[in-house]
Amino acid sequence: MGRILCVANQKGGVGKTTTAINLAAALAKAGYHTLVADFDPQCNATSGLGCRPILHHPLARGLPIHEAIVPTKVPGLELLPGTRSFRDVERLARDPELAPQIREQLRWGLAGYDFVLIDCPPSVGQLTKTALASSDEVLMPIQCEYFAMEGLAQMIEVIRQVMKSDAPKLQFAGILLTMYDHTLELTLEVEREVREFFGEIVFQTVIPRDVALAEAPSHGLPVIEYAPRSRGTRAYVELSWEVRELG
Ligand code: ATP
Ligand code: MG
Repeated sequence: MGRILCVANQKGGVGKTTTAINLAAALAKAGYHTLVADFDPQCNATSGLGCRPILHHPLARGLPIHEAIVPTKVPGLELLPGTRSFRDVERLARDPELAPQIREQLRWGLAGYDFVLIDCPPSVGQLTKTALASSDEVLMPIQCEYFAMEGLAQMIEVIRQVMKSDAPKLQFAGILLTMYDHTLELTLEVEREVREFFGEIVFQTVIPRDVALAEAPSHGLPVIEYAPRSRGTRAYVELSWEVRELG
């Protein structure tokens, strides 16, 4: 049985999708059978991997997920695309009664993978709760900026609730500092604050600001394929080592 990691933070634009795609690609490159599951109606993980959103989502319709899973350009990396279909998004996002069924579907469908990375939307709504409740671990990217800590308490409270009611085995994989710029005093300040407050659950690896990470999705590729020698690639490979050590 593999590990299901949920990449979540209610704050938008902190690097959730970038992390889901590039951590997954680094794991696949290391020989692990890996899946990205796109739970965000924006479908950024789907297009970032050069794939198309699906019209009908199996999770909204009680269908097996394997029929919707597609290969990507990275060997060993597959994708459960997201959907923009209003009806399916509404069902997935609004119907709490669907959650246990979705969890069951995911557990069955994901059994063959070494790693599954779920990319969440920027909210603490039902979609994120379902994703959390279906996961073994949660990975929370935090952008090294002034408002980084804001809203974090709410996110952590939601994670606690899910741990209590639906997923007693859910664990913190860790907090990841993204868009890190060591030349900025602000970055170093945020890092100090986050490490002081959260201690060991903060990953040692930090993800630098790197334009290759921003460009890669427009080519439908993870950074490891688009710019293998970039700093972004190195950072996500290092993160993949840390994540593997946790297992
Ligand atoms: P949303 O909440 O909308 O889903 P997100 O948390 O998934 O956003 P991303 O889409 O991964 O965040 O990143 C936001 C933007 O910042 C994107 O344009 C992405 O390409 C860019 N970006 C992410 N990480 C980095 C980085 N380390 N260096 C440079 N650009 C980055
Ligand atoms: Mg995203």
